[in-house]
Amino acid sequence: MKVVKFGGSSLADAKHFKQVASIIKADPERAYVIPSAPGKRFSADTKVTDMLYRCYELIRAKEDIEECFSEICERYLSIIEELGIDFDISGELEYVKNSMLHNSGRDYAASRGEYLNGLILAKYLGFDFIDAENVIFFNENGTFNEEKTNEVLSNELKQHANAVIPGFYGIMPNGTIKTFSRGGSDITGSIVSRAAGASLYENWTDVSGFMMADPRIVSDPCAIDTITYHELRELSYMGATVLHEDAIFPVRRARIPINIRNTNDPAAPGTMIVASAEDDVSASDSIITGIAGKKGFSVITIEKDMMNSEIGFGRKVLEILEDNDISFEHLPSGIDTMSVVVSTTSIENKLEKIMASLEKTTKADHISLENELALVAVVGRKMVKAKGTAARVFNAVSNAGINIRMIDQGSSEISIILGVEEHDFENAMNAIYREFVK
Ligand code: ASP
Repeated sequence: MKVVKFGGSSLADAKHFKQVASIIKADPERAYVIPSAPGKRFSADTKVTDMLYRCYELIRAKEDIEECFSEICERYLSIIEELGIDFDISGELEYVKNSMLHNSGRDYAASRGEYLNGLILAKYLGFDFIDAENVIFFNENGTFNEEKTNEVLSNELKQHANAVIPGFYGIMPNGTIKTFSRGGSDITGSIVSRAAGASLYENWTDVSGFMMADPRIVSDPCAIDTITYHELRELSYMGATVLHEDAIFPVRRARIPINIRNTNDPAAPGTMIVASAEDDVSASDSIITGIAGKKGFSVITIEKDMMNSEIGFGRKVLEILEDNDISFEHLPSGIDTMSVVVSTTSIENKLEKIMASLEKTTKADHISLENELALVAVVGRKMVKAKGTAARVFNAVSNAGINIRMIDQGSSEISIILGVEEHDFENAMNAIYREFVK
């Protein structure tokens, strides 16, 4: 049995609803459906979730929400009308509006996008509707209550052969609605997959899976057919986005694979996200799985003679970062030098204080700061066994005339991270991509 989640762009209008229904009906194993709120129909359009946040802000500013709310109603009413279903949603819309006007909170407002879309989709498919507020629970401190949710949800699912469960929200112990962070319907899909004991979590979106590189940087990159959770984490951390990061944990533990699919191209196999390399059944022989990267890093380099023999040196440096509430990204070190790579925004406004503390505490010979560093991560589980991959990466980059400022091979050996000047970032990504993908 499969759990299927459809993102906002897959449910933006009636045309997409029809497409979604035909996908679900094409496979009887697609038993439980998680919808997002209607997304953008065209690039200048506004997502319903954003319209709901806007209404909430207007209420807070004691302004009229009539116009804003009627635009939201219009989105749902036109979907119902074009689908030709016999469903009167006006009472629900009125109830939502009144609740919002009576201070039901920001998360309640945002969650109604998924709630209303779920009602319509359940009606259209002829599936049961399970309100997420009865099955997804948060703890007092706002974290997700995994045990209670899994118990209640799996019992509830047993009562329904088919059901629609709206994504993105659940309930607090005090009975108020709480949402996950933006894009959180992915998390609901993962939670439902685990509770249902699904064989597969299909996550339907508007791209044919993960691309090997960002299409805004490398033109027309190939899609990744299979990726492990571990590799995905490395690529997502470096800026590749398709799936909410927290959506991985519930299914990962249960070893349920995720298949990223394209609603607008249902024939494309998409990307399979699997627990480990042994679960990879693809025929791909590509050594690297993907490349991702980000700009906006700074390097603080500390030099001191005989640093290697000074016990506790690293701890002192890291303690200063900790005291300033800064997390470090990488820590390449030499015999007498230690560099700390941090995101530039994290040290803004704190730089003088940090530098002064470092000087005082480490008594270093020299401390310098360099900005405008970009990091590029080359990720691939097959790199562990393939000899010469690092050499190929470095050659490709240096043949393109790019100076490598930092190298860090992750201890798991599934990633190689390069630091380059920001202005070389795009060229470095392209050079590496071309080296490995002809
Ligand atoms: N509708 C919510 C958002 O726009 C959640 C989601 O789509 O996953 O963030």
